[in-house]
Amino acid sequence: MAEQIRNIKGTKDLLPSESRLWLETESIIHNFMSLHGYSLVRTPIFEKTELFSRSIGQETDIVNKEMYTWTDLDGSSLTLRPELTASVVRSYIQNHLGNQSPLQRMYYIDSSFRRERPQKGRQRQFTQFGVEAIGSSTPEQDVEIILIASRIYQMLGIEDLEININSIGSSDSRSKYSEALVDFLRGHEKELSDISQTRLNKNPLRILDSKSEKDIKILEDAPLISDYLNKDDSRNFDQILTLLDDLGITTIKNPKLVRGLDYYNGMTFEILSNNIGAQSALCGGGRYDKLVEYLGGKSTPAVGFAAGLERLILLLKEKENSLISNYADIYIISLDEKAIPYSFSIADKLRNKLGIKVVCETLRRSMKAQLREANKNNSKFTIIVGEDEIKSNKVIIKNMEDGNQINASIDDIENHFGVDYEYK
Ligand code: AMP
Repeated sequence: MAEQIRNIKGTKDLLPSESRLWLETESIIHNFMSLHGYSLVRTPIFEKTELFSRSIGQETDIVNKEMYTWTDLDGSSLTLRPELTASVVRSYIQNHLGNQSPLQRMYYIDSSFRRERPQKGRQRQFTQFGVEAIGSSTPEQDVEIILIASRIYQMLGIEDLEININSIGSSDSRSKYSEALVDFLRGHEKELSDISQTRLNKNPLRILDSKSEKDIKILEDAPLISDYLNKDDSRNFDQILTLLDDLGITTIKNPKLVRGLDYYNGMTFEILSNNIGAQSALCGGGRYDKLVEYLGGKSTPAVGFAAGLERLILLLKEKENSLISNYADIYIISLDEKAIPYSFSIADKLRNKLGIKVVCETLRRSMKAQLREANKNNSKFTIIVGEDEIKSNKVIIKNMEDGNQINASIDDIENHFGVDYEYK
């Protein structure tokens, strides 16, 4: 036998046993976004490397060591996208979307690629569902974004979530805070991790994103951004919190939730789950008013979030889930070869006239095996077609839930499902 070729570490196949749950989830997200007036945007899977090094930042783990980057035949450096915000903003600028409307509400469901160490909930190719609203700087726009993020989980029946929220204020407030942070960290310089020591001089705020245990311990006593917000920043943050409160969305103020990149400002938030192990971050987002300008567009305020779909699916799989549907509501059992054309014709009518999911047996198994298949698939009904039935122009319809059977004429079989069984 030839040697098997396996997939690449950190990537996964979406198998038929799971694809239904994915499709259902994605379809709920598409409908949900449409309810909120957001439109899908789809950008290419690879971009110029510079787009990400400029937007995500040279000193981040993503750009330093996690990107899949290669030199193309013409010498240009290209990269598989590690996230989508940069691509969406590039597209917004390039296609002059700001001229079409003062506010663009967009969302995406697409793959991202990061060369991280794979574990439960962390892959090298993963899927992000994200939302970006480009053009508004109001607190209600921030609230709309958090509302979408929180309601989508609620709608899918995910409980035990924690929404952390913070404001990192305007650049003015942040530079004052940055000075205080540097003053504090200078006292611990030698104990900081190597990378944080470098960042202390280049971009101290980024130290707050550090994953090093040593750094996290030191940061416990560091000054908090919340003490450095100016009046406008505080008022804006209060408005966001009040509106969220009015909507019944519970948040936890977390003054340590800070993003160290220059183009972030104002509100940041993160949604965590206690039920999926170490990789508990489901969704992260916030305001990034400087990014459009940073990438060569006109100064335009923006806010958004990105959520990991694999982690959401992990949570959905742990529940007894009504989203996991069967592949056929009606399974048609053929008892012998002569029954096949009848079975196919009945299935064809039921699918096309009534829109019912119907599957016919094509393995020619025994009746017992076919019934077992229908049970395993949670089919609601089986239709049994055999020689006797054909002779009398009748089939048996079996209700798989209560075991009741009736005889039905082949010619008006649709009526049984259209009317009696209230399928629609
Ligand atoms: P980030 O862009 O790092 O803020 O990521 C946004 C969301 O994407 C996170 O909250 C996770 O749910 C998800 N995510 C990030 N990296 C990965 C990964 N390597 N594998 C699976 N999901 C991820």
